[in-house]
Amino acid sequence: TWGRVKQQLLESVGRNNYANWIEPLDLKKVDNGVAVFSVPTSFMANWVSRNFSETILSHLKAANASASRVEFTVEPHQSRGAAAPASVPVQTQKASPAPKVKEAAPEMPDLPAADLPGAPLDPRFTFDNFVVGKPNELAHAAARRVAEGGPVTFNPLFLYGGVGLGKTHLMHAIAHEIRQRDPELRVLYLSAEQFMYRFVQALRDRQMIDFKQIFRSVDVLMVDDVQFIAGKDSTQEEFFHTFNALVDQNKQIIISADRAPGEIVGLEDRIKSRLQCGLVVDLHPTDYELRLGILQTKADSYRGQYPDLKFADGVLEFLAHRISTNVRVLEGALMRLFAFASLVGREIDLDLTQECLADILKASERKVTVEEIQRKVSEHYAIRLSDMIGPKRVRSIARPRQVAMYLAKHMTTRSLPEIGRRFGGRDHTTVMHGVKRIEELKGTDSQIADDLEMLRRLLEA
Ligand code: ADP
Ligand code: MG
Repeated sequence: TWGRVKQQLLESVGRNNYANWIEPLDLKKVDNGVAVFSVPTSFMANWVSRNFSETILSHLKAANASASRVEFTVEPHQSRGAAAPASVPVQTQKASPAPKVKEAAPEMPDLPAADLPGAPLDPRFTFDNFVVGKPNELAHAAARRVAEGGPVTFNPLFLYGGVGLGKTHLMHAIAHEIRQRDPELRVLYLSAEQFMYRFVQALRDRQMIDFKQIFRSVDVLMVDDVQFIAGKDSTQEEFFHTFNALVDQNKQIIISADRAPGEIVGLEDRIKSRLQCGLVVDLHPTDYELRLGILQTKADSYRGQYPDLKFADGVLEFLAHRISTNVRVLEGALMRLFAFASLVGREIDLDLTQECLADILKASERKVTVEEIQRKVSEHYAIRLSDMIGPKRVRSIARPRQVAMYLAKHMTTRSLPEIGRRFGGRDHTTVMHGVKRIEELKGTDSQIADDLEMLRRLLEA
């Protein structure tokens, strides 16, 4: 059956995907509803499991294989996957559910009581590796200042911003810096979730005295993602007392959250006001320049890792332009691109980028609405929005209306009838006519062509 299923997969995933990802799979066995495949590299295991496990499973089911799950075992085989790394540790990837991009699950090892119950620091999260741009320069400067130590200046330092903008990176950087400068200092970094976990564990094991003693004897306390304790009353209570005890002793505290203290729903007011006492700085969403800077830095280090890969001009600019603000997504995209290119032995150019990152590019597409298009086009031609969707047929209004219809057709996923409805209930043939007319004009009337270009940019920004 696998032969037949493969044949169907060829049709459903396309020749390229098939050759790269499906063809090298070996079905080893179906055991207890688990279909086990061997793949030559762990990168492939990850990739296939992320991108194709559902498709494979549904085809298996259709072929009456009694599988409810697929798994991938890494078994390097010499004859295939020429670009694969020489040796890969054997490991099994659980396939479903497909992993989503999210915060890594915190590690919660049982530590010896004498040790600080902190989380491990990521060695890559240093100030050296942090690219500074307009959106993060204040947060960076504040973090630097706190890391320099001296008389406590900002206490607490409160960093906030959206997912993947570098909060954790900056906190680790501070911790690295302080530890390096003064190895004697007791620096404790952990997530708010881990704080709660430790607290609950201490309660359960009747070790609250130890808990308090440990947390109140550190020199620097860093709590990441503090929004997590919102609504968790006894944890908040304990956090509040820990916080106060440390501030009283002039110990540095650094906190991060996904929003400003005042906006964390379910956080006690007295905690909010404590958190606002020091310096509150936010990391703004990245802009194009910062994204490009980050991509260039990361690409340089990948080039070192994959010295044979060719890298075309314009790829990083394209990514910086197309992928939205989250740096983690940006990094993931670049990593995948290099891994993919080295696996298939191709140059990294725009074609490969679009092929390899189709899902990411799609997910970060900005969704433009017909209403936005109508508004921008009306502004551009200085006509009223009510005229845009009204009945008037004079050229000075009809032409902008057709431009808006054209943009709606090309920039949204709305069908012609849906677009017609948003233009005062016009028929889909009217929309079609308008779109056609602009398509013709675009080739002959440079003013229209310029207008379209400019409107498109405005709408995509
Ligand atoms: P947050 O904690 O705000 O969700 P992280 O600090 O975990 O975000 O950052 C997500 C990823 O993006 C990390 O790998 C981090 O190294 C990287 N990153 C974020 N901002 C920058 C930056 N300015 N320069 C370099 N890497 C960055
Ligand atoms: Mg974080």
